[in-house]
Amino acid sequence: MPAAGEEPYAQQFATRLAAVEARIAAACRAAGRPRGDVTLVAVTKTRTLDEVRAAIRCGLGDLGENRIEELEERLDALTPGEAESRGDVRWHMIGHVQSRKAARVAAVAALVHSVDSVRLAERLDRAAGAAGRVLPVLLEVNVSGEESKFGLSAWDAASRDALPGTLEGLGSLEHLEVRGLMTMAPLGASPEEARAVFAALRALRETLCRCLPWSDWGELSMGMTDDFEPAIAEGATMVRIGRALFGPRTA
Ligand SMILES: *Cc1c(COP(=O)(O)O)cnc(C)c1O
Repeated sequence: MPAAGEEPYAQQFATRLAAVEARIAAACRAAGRPRGDVTLVAVTKTRTLDEVRAAIRCGLGDLGENRIEELEERLDALTPGEAESRGDVRWHMIGHVQSRKAARVAAVAALVHSVDSVRLAERLDRAAGAAGRVLPVLLEVNVSGEESKFGLSAWDAASRDALPGTLEGLGSLEHLEVRGLMTMAPLGASPEEARAVFAALRALRETLCRCLPWSDWGELSMGMTDDFEPAIAEGATMVRIGRALFGPRTA
């Protein structure tokens, strides 16, 4: 039982979700985009299973984890037949994937946002082939130059010019389907700085569209709790939101 005066968790979650939804809808309106253009990916890393269940019960079907171990734990814990039937949930891998874990990721992820090297793409392609599936992925790009970030380099003109050549071979991987790009703004960036990073990702998408027409490059995964509104203004099709939905992370 929650203590007197304390809202049950599910109710707190529904309230936070409604606030996030209102902000996404407003950002779409301001950008002249339909709400349906933007998928909300709820980032469940470090949350308890009850918190994950609250999200699923509120109808969120796109959930993101940044470690394969935690993603697999969720899959094991959410049994089919529960209201939160795992068949209704698409698990997004949003964190760095070590090559040696590529097979585990390729087996279960609905979409991998964080393909940050050609080598990883090739590993995932082989693993998806072995698992008998075609794996949808996004390429993670570092457009800000922040050194702690993973991602294919695209922070200066030289690295941007080199990118189409680097990525050319991915078009022939039969078990990988490249759907677009993902990026993160630098930690502590202002909304204006974040927006410039997102604009750069959108511009890079135009270049890749022209040079590598084997993908439609349609998806732009950008925007988190602190910067999803500027991301939507710059064309985000997926926002990855944790703290605004679940509260501050302690772990
Ligand atoms: C944790 C994380 C998020 C969500 O961050 P919040 O600030 O909690 O919204 C989004 N994307 C990635 C890659 C993450 O690791």
